[in-house]
This record gives sequence, C-alpha cells and structure tokens, in this order.
Amino acid sequence: MALEASIIDELQVRFGPTNLLVGDRITENYRKDESIGTTPCAPLCVVFPESTEDVSAVLSIASQYSVPVVPRGAGTGLSGGALPKAGSLVLSTERMNAILELNRQDSTVRVQAGVTLSQLDEYLMPLGYVYPVYPGELGSTIGGNVATNAGGMRAVKYGVTRHQVLGLTIVLADGTVMHSGGSYVKSSSGYDLTQLVIGSEGTLAVACEATLRVYLRPPFTQTILAPFADRDHVWAAVRGILAVPDPPMILEYVDGAALHAMAAQSGLELGIPQGAKDSAAVYLIVVLEAFAEAVCDEQAEIAAACLEDAGSLGQYFLNVRQGELLITARESAFWLAKSAGANEIIDVVVPRSSIGQLMDEVASIGEQTGSWISAAGHVGDGNIHFSLFQPDSTLRGEVMMAIYTAAGNLGGEVSAEHGIGSVKVPYYIATSDEAKLELMKSIKSAFDPSGILNPGKIFG
Ligand SMILES: Cc1cc2nc3c(=O)[nH]c(=O)nc-3n(C[C@H](O)[C@H](O)[C@H](O)COP(=O)(O)OP(=O)(O)OC[C@H]3O[C@@H](n4cnc5c(N)ncnc54)[C@H](O)[C@@H]3O)c2cc1C
Repeated sequence: MALEASIIDELQVRFGPTNLLVGDRITENYRKDESIGTTPCAPLCVVFPESTEDVSAVLSIASQYSVPVVPRGAGTGLSGGALPKAGSLVLSTERMNAILELNRQDSTVRVQAGVTLSQLDEYLMPLGYVYPVYPGELGSTIGGNVATNAGGMRAVKYGVTRHQVLGLTIVLADGTVMHSGGSYVKSSSGYDLTQLVIGSEGTLAVACEATLRVYLRPPFTQTILAPFADRDHVWAAVRGILAVPDPPMILEYVDGAALHAMAAQSGLELGIPQGAKDSAAVYLIVVLEAFAEAVCDEQAEIAAACLEDAGSLGQYFLNVRQGELLITARESAFWLAKSAGANEIIDVVVPRSSIGQLMDEVASIGEQTGSWISAAGHVGDGNIHFSLFQPDSTLRGEVMMAIYTAAGNLGGEVSAEHGIGSVKVPYYIATSDEAKLELMKSIKSAFDPSGILNPGKIFG
C-alpha cells in the first residue's frame, strides 16, 4: 500500500489531476478492451502522457517502483491485450494525438501514437492521400495498430501495418527514448528494431511516434457483390481474382446468413433478386479502385468474369453509396456477432490456398461439437474470422484448440491481426515451437529485464 501511495504521489507531481486517474475516477472504459468474455479489472491508475518525454517519465517512475505498465490506445483490441491487471498502471496514448508532419516528397506522414485512423483519414483525404490500413474499427490508434500489426480489409492490396511503418520512436521499460528507421524505404543497417516492435503488443516498448507510408488516393471505386450456392465454388473465384494483374482493394468472404443480417441491420437494400438470395450460402465482396474511371470499369469487368466463371449466382455492381454502406456493414460484423451472443471471435490465418480446407475442417468441428460457427473475413489474405457460439466453456476451449490446431497443421498461425493478448495465450503456447517461444522470451528480457511491460500478454 505504501508503495502504491508513493508512486501515485510521484505521478501526481509530474502529471497533476488532469492527466492522472486514480480510484473511482477510473471509468469502466479503462478497465477493459473489446475482447469477448474477459473480466474488466480496475488498474492502480491511468496516466495520460502528451509527449514522448511524458512517456519516458511514466516508465522511469514505473520501473523504479516495479509497477506493471499496460500501454493502451483506444481499447478496441479483441484479444485482451490492453486489459489491465490489479495494481498495474494503464498508460493511455489518447492525448498523444498530433499529426506532426506530412512529407510529400517522401510520401510519408509522422504521427503521435494516439492518432486514430479516422483522424488520420480526415486529415489525408482532402490532400488526396490515403493511409491504407483499414481495420474494421477506425477509432483504433496508430500505436494500437503498430502493437497488433493490424490488418483489415485492404491488406489484400496494400499489406498490413508492418508494410506501412518506416520508423518508430519508442520508449523502453526504463524510460530510455529510442528512434529506429525513418522517412526512408530501405535499410541494411543492423537488426530491424522497428519490425521487431511491430506486433509486440506492448510487451517490448511503448510506441510514441510512427513514420508511415502514404499513397495517392484513387478516386474511383467499384463494389461487386457475388452470391454463391456453396463454399466450394468460392475458392476458384478467389484464385481467379487474385491472379489478375491489378489485385482488388478488398476481397471479403461472408456467410449468407451473416450478410443478410448485416444488410438488414444497416437497412441496406442489396438489389439482389429474392431467388438468388434464397440460394446464396455465401458471398464474396470485391472492391476495385483506380485513378481513371475507365480502368476501374475494366477491372470490374475482369473480376465479374472471374466470378461468373467460378459459378457465382450473379455479379451485382453496387453504386458508390451502396458499396460504402456494404463495407460499413461488413465492418460492423463483430458488433453483430457480439450482440447475437458470440462467445469468441477467432482470427486464424492459413496460406490462402488452404482456406477451403480450413473452412471444411471448421465446419466439421462445429458439427461434431454442436457449436454454431459463422464466418466472415479477409479471404484474400487467408484470414477468416470465425464467430463461435458455444456457451459451454470447456467445450468451447476444445473447439478453439481444434481450430487452432487445424490452422497450424495447414501451415498457419493462431492470430492473423488481432494479436495473442491474454485471451489466446494457452492456444498460442500449445501450438508454437518451443525454441521460438524461448527466443521470444529472451528478446522480451533484453528489452524489458524487469518484466514491467504488459506482463501476462503473449506468453502468459
Ligand atoms: C468492430 C471491430 C472490428 C475490428 N476489425 C479489425 C480488423 O479488421 N483488423 C484488425 O487488425 N483489427 C481489427 N479490430 C481490432 C482492433 O481494432 C485492432 O487490434 C487495433 O489495432 C487496436 O488498436 P487500439 O488503439 O484500440 O489498441 P488497444 O486495444 O488499446 O491495444 C491493443 C494492444 O496494443 C498495445 N498498445 C496500444 N498502444 C500502444 C503503444 N502506443 N505502444 C505499445 N503498445 C501499445 C496494448 O497494450 C495492447 O496489447 C477490430 C476491432 C473492433 C472492435
């Protein structure tokens, strides 16, 4: 208790009451993230640094008192990565939200870690640029995206966060400030610490600033919705669409029932005849983009031909507004699944050539265990999100282990983009190579010898 009082006193002197929450002032939001089924927990305090120097001060104080630090962006994570433990200090980056510099010559933007994707998009859009990482939650922060190596729907064309971050300013566990990378696109100068920190879920360092690639924003888009009578025909369509010279910006898979529920919830009229809807077991959503309308139209015709050749029940070209609404509805799939009572969301990844086999195995696991498993996701990346409805926690654990094992046997991984956090720790450990885990633990101790950064995450 004396130790807790001392650290609070010290933080109060440095941050004052406006940038520090203690006791009852810690609202529900800071006790949880968006993971399903995890238990909220009140931390010792929440600190709101405004600069890299502030973060350094927080970590120096925390390391002096050996108090665990849980970095937090917007708390939209789905794996319990930002979930605090009792006695921990939550370091929220929400007041580190400055866009520092757009460098048009280098096509980069430098931002503080607490900048949200929607804030960055509002800034870049009128300037004709885009930062292309679009996870389903645009309220998430760049720091959170870096820490989870966030992906999202546009990864099929642009890649994930890892492919967009050129440099980072980070603070180590003892408060040391360090820069890695910068506004340049290649380097062969020692270990790439930028890439090591990306995806480390707040266990190695706190990301304070990031230098990101930006792209010219193509003004023309075309969305095509293609229903299929069964899953088997979908894989041929995916193969065909990914083999064309200009890949789509978005290539999403959605189970028929899920798509109809999404459309109904958002009041979206898809313009598909009832007969096709009744026969549709699954859908593909394809979005093309281009700098010239004629090019976009041509790409759309090629994609539609691939869909038709693969046996889709129709290829429905949506107008711009319908297309945007459909993508927004797809982004809300998580909330729909959560409100329908999903007990877990699984985001495994396999080589995209194995996605059909994974789906068959998951369907069979669902049938054998009496679990309802709905699928929607980034099929072009080999990454489908499964919403698992299985209230029995023991059986649910078995189902999850079976799905993770199936993905591993197909050459995949436990998490494509949501991270391991606290929720997937046992599955990650059970399905990972021991030598790899040991090496990762050594890297963790080199960065954070006293283990104060987000303990319990990734490794348990
Ligand atoms: C509706 C919905 C849809 C989603 N769709 C997608 C999707 O399509 N693709 C996808 O990838 N994700 C998706 N997500 C998950 C989530 O948005 C991402 O994981 C996002 O990157 C989390 O960002 P955040 O700012 O909310 O981070 P938080 O949830 O606050 O934290 C996530 C992790 O990052 C760490 N962290 C946060 N900030 C920092 C920092 N500055 N330095 C070091 N560590 C830090 C935390 O400790 C934690 O481990 C979705 C979430 C929701 C709710």
